[in-house]
Amino acid sequence: MYLTEFQSWIELAEGNFSVKRRIGTRRGGSQRWSQSQDIAQPWLREIVERWVAYRVNTEAADAQHIGQQESHVVEFARWAEARDVTNPEGVTRSLLLDWLAEVNSQTNKHGKKFSGGYRSAKISAVSMMIQYARVEITQRIPSNALYLAGEFPARDIPSPRFLEPRLIDTLRLPRSLDLVVDPAHRTAILIMMQVGVRAGHTCSLPFDCLIDLNRTGSLDKWALNFIDTKSKMNITVPIEPHVATAIKAQQQRALVESAKMGLAVPELLFANSRARSTRQLAPERLNIVLRQWAADLDLRDSAGQLEKITPHRFRHTFATEMLEKGVPIEVVQKLLGHRSLSSTQIYATTTDKRMRAEWENAKFVNVRGEAIEMAEGPAADAEWLLNRMSHAMQPLPNGACGLPIQQSCPHANACLDNCPHFITSVEFLGVHRAQSLEFERTISKAEAAGHFRLVEINKRPNENLKKIINALEDDPGEASDAS
Ligand code: SF4
Repeated sequence: MYLTEFQSWIELAEGNFSVKRRIGTRRGGSQRWSQSQDIAQPWLREIVERWVAYRVNTEAADAQHIGQQESHVVEFARWAEARDVTNPEGVTRSLLLDWLAEVNSQTNKHGKKFSGGYRSAKISAVSMMIQYARVEITQRIPSNALYLAGEFPARDIPSPRFLEPRLIDTLRLPRSLDLVVDPAHRTAILIMMQVGVRAGHTCSLPFDCLIDLNRTGSLDKWALNFIDTKSKMNITVPIEPHVATAIKAQQQRALVESAKMGLAVPELLFANSRARSTRQLAPERLNIVLRQWAADLDLRDSAGQLEKITPHRFRHTFATEMLEKGVPIEVVQKLLGHRSLSSTQIYATTTDKRMRAEWENAKFVNVRGEAIEMAEGPAADAEWLLNRMSHAMQPLPNGACGLPIQQSCPHANACLDNCPHFITSVEFLGVHRAQSLEFERTISKAEAAGHFRLVEINKRPNENLKKIINALEDDPGEASDAS
């Protein structure tokens, strides 16, 4: 009976295409689950195969992820065999610690140590498999054969890979996008660039991924809807009207392609027309297109090197932009389809560091145009937090209110009228100039009409504005930011 059950697990893992499709396998490659065949010892092969089958059938992760985990546990099994581990009793804690040391010492083909995340993934896969085997297959594995929580390799904090504003702004220009010849590729790039959808998910978007949010009939409001096969979450991301327009055009193309093949409504938004089948567009293809696009645009970094544009950099850029604009981290988490807030936190941490670096280098002036000295030590931390809170809670069109968040404004609309809490910087210089011109016009009209009280009311804030403008025009960042 045990053997029958075991065979059925393997059958399900190796041969059942519908299971693979259901968890998001892109291709039905027959060798997908065959790596374990190289494990010589039947008891060890059984453990590996049953664990992989269990992962597939419980839809624990997407197929690509399970495939990676399988290669990790097969590597461990072969290593254990080479150390003459001939039975489950030989899987000891000491063996696991030796495997940990082995993984920590491994290097890639360039002689570089693997990342913490990769090493942690290897150890986690083995740890999960051993736990599963002890519970479901054999109790002959010693009960203390496990890894303790602190023993997993620490994950590196990824460095920010977002695209600088000048780069993303260039990419978003319609004339830049027009350089991408294939309209399907163009639409896929637009989706990845505007809402940070992963390449794999973009390629597997369902045909009916568009949701019309126009309930009143007078708005052009849309959202993209799909299942994130990594987190298994249903994702709904608001999109701009021009992205929705591009998706609608792609739906029409997919319908035409589908009709040519004698099929009904297509399942996918991006069918692979070259394959003359319903197979989806390959994410690898998008990477090639992006490389070519960066070359066509001659997009270079500050060192003059050709920029590498990847779908993941679009995702980082999207997350960073959202966080910088003050979108709550829980909302960004949902938009990105992160099951855990800690994944989104990585973006928030790098965003905070970058914004603080910019803030420390910026020049701030008060309502009298006097430079505000940068504090040091803990006071600098407090000032930074206050600055973030002010921007989040009491944003002003021309600066920020430095009033502690717990207090409310005692004099509405009087920021420029000598309020000691008013703070501004060069990013608002354009607003100040426009506002000053407006004051000048009002004062002239009031003088002509003999409304001297009105002249007085407008003069003081305008004088403050002029001082602010003079002070900020001395700022080195003025030339690029003031327009
Ligand atoms: S008047 Fe002063 S306290 Fe009120 S919002 Fe403006 S800066 Fe803040």
